[in-house]
Amino acid sequence: MIRGRRQSMKKLITVFMLLIVLIILVIGASVVYMGRNSYELSNTVVMTPPYAIDPDVMPDLLIADMHADTFNFETDFFTRSRVGQVDLPRIGDAEISLMTFAIATEVPFSIMRKPPGGNPRGGNLVTLGAFSELEPIANWFSQYERGLYAINYAHDLIAQKPERMKLVENRADLQQVLDSNREKPGSMLGIVLSVEGSHILEGDPDRLDTLYAKGVRMLSLTHAFDNEAGGSSEGVEKRGITPYGEALLQKMQQLGIIIDIAHASPALADDLLDRARSPVVYSHGGVRGMCDIDRNISDHTLERVKENGGLVGIGFWPLVLCDQSDVGAIVDTIRYVADKIGVDHVALGSDFDGGVRTVFDVSGVPLLTQALLADGFSEMDVRKIMGENYINLLRGSLPGGSSR
Ligand SMILES: [Zn+2]
Repeated sequence: MIRGRRQSMKKLITVFMLLIVLIILVIGASVVYMGRNSYELSNTVVMTPPYAIDPDVMPDLLIADMHADTFNFETDFFTRSRVGQVDLPRIGDAEISLMTFAIATEVPFSIMRKPPGGNPRGGNLVTLGAFSELEPIANWFSQYERGLYAINYAHDLIAQKPERMKLVENRADLQQVLDSNREKPGSMLGIVLSVEGSHILEGDPDRLDTLYAKGVRMLSLTHAFDNEAGGSSEGVEKRGITPYGEALLQKMQQLGIIIDIAHASPALADDLLDRARSPVVYSHGGVRGMCDIDRNISDHTLERVKENGGLVGIGFWPLVLCDQSDVGAIVDTIRYVADKIGVDHVALGSDFDGGVRTVFDVSGVPLLTQALLADGFSEMDVRKIMGENYINLLRGSLPGGSSR
């Protein structure tokens, strides 16, 4: 009797253990699946190419974007793809001269459920990606290593096509890119590297020296959650700059790294604008006057960016346009900022490949040129918005010096 009961107990335990193993396998497999397919799953478009673009619309336009995230993923950058939002052939379709690619090293799990009170820190989807992509083990445990890995990946891509792509680290590099594009639009893609979130430094401001040496020229202190440097627009506490953030900012200004106030809480944005000694950028997002969400910036911050001589990069993703998913919504937001603080302070901040659904992919950028002209912006204004404002800011912010 007791023996029988013991045996059925054993059976029960075995079944239970098998069930646990099965659950772990299923969770593991889904993590690997999601990690390996995160690029195509998270970067979709509302309108799919090909787009109705007039090839004669401002053929000598210089287009420059302040924020895309492609290099956080290992994609086949040189091959035209049907998934994601950016690759070199599609950049070529749009004849884009310059793009800023950001490196992001921490995305908390809370971002997936978007809690109304802001995103608490905890877990890291980037680490999960590094793990499922079987990246070097150092990347699993260090954000700094993961960041350097992505930066080195960008360097490798550029080195493979030096006649077509150029890392822009100084004014001489910028000039070379501009000369090439003036001769033949879209012939050379200038690449500016930026970082989203100072947590990449893991508490060591001196690591900024290495990032700078590797070409990073723009940085936002925070990303989509509060960190040790300050509060995020999507964070819980919405605090201003911390003493550590102050130290970092000082170092950034010594090096000449452009201050990006995207993802900063209103208090942090004010603190940064109080202290900035050169023009800041709000590299990507929307505005609260058109779409009143935490991620977007207020009229007050717009005015302060104007006083500072900085730029506001309007995003191409419906989330910051209050779910409006057409080109017109981007134009309306650009119009709002131009009316409020002047056309000299508006630029593009696509957030292509930023884990968001965008209105069109990178090959559709000329749709915006067409829509701005149709909305009554002058050719000169369109030139400024589509690229010249950002190019001028870079000219004033980058160090001199000769090309690598
Ligand atoms: Zn962002």
